[in-house]
Amino acid sequence: MKYLLVISILFAAISGATAQEKKVEFETFQLSETVYMLKGAGGNVGISAGEDGLYIIDDQVSPITEQLLEAIKKVSDKPIRFVINTHYHADHTGGNEAIGGTGAVIVAHDNIRKRMSTEQVSIFMDSTTPPYPKGALPVLTFNDRMSLHLNGESATAYYVANGHTDGDSIIHFPASNVIHMGDMYFNGLYPYVDLDAGGSIQGVVAAVDLALSLADESTRIIPGHGPLATKEDLEGYRHFLSKAVSNVQALIDQGMDLPQAIAARPTEEWDETLGKVWITPPQFVTFIYNSLQGIHHFTPLPKDGAEQD
Ligand SMILES: [Zn+2]
Repeated sequence: MKYLLVISILFAAISGATAQEKKVEFETFQLSETVYMLKGAGGNVGISAGEDGLYIIDDQVSPITEQLLEAIKKVSDKPIRFVINTHYHADHTGGNEAIGGTGAVIVAHDNIRKRMSTEQVSIFMDSTTPPYPKGALPVLTFNDRMSLHLNGESATAYYVANGHTDGDSIIHFPASNVIHMGDMYFNGLYPYVDLDAGGSIQGVVAAVDLALSLADESTRIIPGHGPLATKEDLEGYRHFLSKAVSNVQALIDQGMDLPQAIAARPTEEWDETLGKVWITPPQFVTFIYNSLQGIHHFTPLPKDGAEQD
């Protein structure tokens, strides 16, 4: 139930609605001597805390920042030195302004700053998001990769192009043997591929492949949403993605248009397990279909993607 609450807050946040301040139950998992995963309301947060101080990956939704900071304090009461954003969505950057205001440096890919500083139109969400205030914007941006040399290891953010959006990074902690996937990995639910923001299913697959190449049997993998995972879990996800992609490609090869492809239910085998939490089967099929056809936006569905002629 807690998980459903997280998803509903996520949905409210990225659809631009005001999520009212609720008491959030945070859960913290220690993954190495210095690296933690924190679950709350919004994308999963990564924390590095050690002799050089504290930095975090992503900062959830804005209405709960005070609560998030309290939860982080239980890991370390040092000031937050850096925040790395894995992408621009509001359930991963909501704390930027407040935490930046405490002196933390916000670090992100160039495209995150671009999107956060301009109006964003989402066909999928049926929403328009105004530019963020200056204080929420990343002040240090990178184009390919960036490393932080703190707390006994060099953590590297790798830009992974055009996957969940056009500005995602995955972050590798080599000594801790942890990878933060951002929203390139939704563990236990269909992934959201933000076509309207430069995302594509091919980019998601490429990001998963990069993470797999960095992982071994004991790597702890932090997904953007859902529970902590292993390399084996991520391999399962990769297998599911490629099978779903080839199922949709087969329908395209038969000449089907999008409504026909949705009606053919190419993701049926996962719909009961992955398709009931947030992203629906017709939406997921649309993400794949449009990606494979080079259509760089979401296509609104006939009501609930029901069969149409
Ligand atoms: Zn996202």
